[in-house]
Amino acid sequence: MTIATIAALASGRPPSAIAVIRVSGPQALAAVRALTGREPPPARTMALRSLSDPDDGSLLDSALVVVFPGPNSASGEDLAELHLHGGPAVVGGVLAALTALPGVRLAEAGEFTRRAFANGRMDLAQVEGLADLVAAETRSQRDQALALAGGVLSRLADGWRSRCIAILAEAEAALDFAEEEADVAARLEDMAAVQLRALAAELAALLADAGRGARIHDGLTIAVTGAPNVGKSSLINALSGRDVAIVTPVAGTTRDAIEVPMNLDGVAAMLIDTAGLRDTDDAVEQEGIRRARARVAAADLVLHVIAAGDAEPPRDARHWLIVNKCDLTGVAVADALAVSALTGAGIADLRRRLSEWAQAVVRPGEPPLLSRARHRAAFADAAAAIADAAMAQDAVLRAESLRAAAQAFGRIAGRVDVDDVLDQIFSRFCIGK
Ligand code: GDP
Repeated sequence: MTIATIAALASGRPPSAIAVIRVSGPQALAAVRALTGREPPPARTMALRSLSDPDDGSLLDSALVVVFPGPNSASGEDLAELHLHGGPAVVGGVLAALTALPGVRLAEAGEFTRRAFANGRMDLAQVEGLADLVAAETRSQRDQALALAGGVLSRLADGWRSRCIAILAEAEAALDFAEEEADVAARLEDMAAVQLRALAAELAALLADAGRGARIHDGLTIAVTGAPNVGKSSLINALSGRDVAIVTPVAGTTRDAIEVPMNLDGVAAMLIDTAGLRDTDDAVEQEGIRRARARVAAADLVLHVIAAGDAEPPRDARHWLIVNKCDLTGVAVADALAVSALTGAGIADLRRRLSEWAQAVVRPGEPPLLSRARHRAAFADAAAAIADAAMAQDAVLRAESLRAAAQAFGRIAGRVDVDDVLDQIFSRFCIGK
């Protein structure tokens, strides 16, 4: 089967100053020849070239062209980049001319990266890091994604996998010794037990930090609760600086839970408006309310809003009491944050406190290693297998558990059983990635 050569716009939607089209596959260099009418420039060197439609010779653009011959390219194949003027007609014309060439077609979402993975240019955790990097909206998400894309997690998992395999080799050696030299076997078993305990402790520390990684990746959740009309939606608008939540003077008119993203000095957070959470007979609404209540119950922080003059509700550590409408009375409740969503008084102070809280929870200066459920699951499986190995009375069972642990570590970089997750991961990429 011949491999198709793929082409796609790799930069943002036109119009833009510059648009980059990538071409990868066996025909990539021939495609450059066809559109420029001459040999490609030397590898990894940009050159200005006129691009023409090979069909009728019409000029398409004057562009910067660079080629990366495989296997030392991002995709591992011959790769070319055309840096065009970013007009829709230029981009459309060049893509049409490219895909009219034999063996060249438009790329599917994530196909360049998929080829990089297939050609061993990136491992699976790095692919996920790249996807996270493209999606990163906050500084801490970017730091985390860069660490993952740089292979930090894969190296850790591969190192642990090698240690498992080394212990396994010793465990198998112990099996051979078992009959003749019981003392040698016993010594090897003691060594294995010590190594397993060390490995278990390191894994436990990694897993204990998993919640922090997930919070950076997915964002912290902050629920805003309180009686109807205290100003929850107004507060969310004031905090987020957007006009998203629906503010009305009629009690209970905000429908459904509205979630508003916020960037707390580099940490992603989601404000959950609970204004619409009231009892209803409508089945669809009930389901929405059930889900919203679950989000509130699991929120990292609850801002409970009352209006100035209202009675104070009981509180716990996860709740901050916010007294809104302080412009009406000017009276502040002790130990609460007094704000006015209407005038903006106290809002900057609240934002600052939320930001301090967010920094304390996720410690963005130290990118955590675990951010995705897939990683947590693989390391948790490895930890369970190592615990089994440590407890195993029988050498054969211990070897079996060690093999399972090595297998689980191998899943991180995609060295074993990954076929089922590949489609899921690559389908989330955009076209041209
Ligand atoms: P929710 O039901 O808790 O989401 O309350 P809304 O945000 O819809 O606000 C209810 C009403 O209170 C609206 O008429 C708002 O304009 C008003 N409101 C909200 N915040 C303030 C405030 O700080 N001061 C005053 N005076 N009115 C406010």
